[in-house]
Amino acid sequence: MDCVFCAIINGDIPSKTVYEDDMIKAFYDIEPQAPVHIIIIPKLHIASANEIGEDEAKYVAHIFAKIPQIAKEAGIAENGYRIINNCGKDGGQTVGHLHFHLLGGRDLGAKLV
Ligand code: AMP
Ligand code: ZN
Repeated sequence: MDCVFCAIINGDIPSKTVYEDDMIKAFYDIEPQAPVHIIIIPKLHIASANEIGEDEAKYVAHIFAKIPQIAKEAGIAENGYRIINNCGKDGGQTVGHLHFHLLGGRDLGAKLV
């Protein structure tokens, strides 16, 4: 399967890891849209939010359970941050492996990133 985020999980494509465990991985976005821009992915290939069922939701829950720690270690917990998921063509999804953007480090305003 030709998936850039699966290649990152496998180590075939390098990434700057922020957090990793047996279920999820967090790493810095290569084209940051904010001073802190972290991508968080499940280690299971889930194509998009459209593919989340009960089994996949465990990964999503685990991602959200770890976001406070990831945000704290990135220094953005106190001032706050934005979590984004883009789904499908109209949602602007460019990588077909479910991921959440964690953005912070400046006032993000009302703009949708
Ligand atoms: P989306 O548009 O929601 O699908 O977001 C995909 C994100 O993945 C974009 O912000 C890209 O900059 C980021 N991205 C793509 N390839 C890589 C990579 N090899 N390492 C880190 N981030 C990446
Ligand atoms: Zn994948």
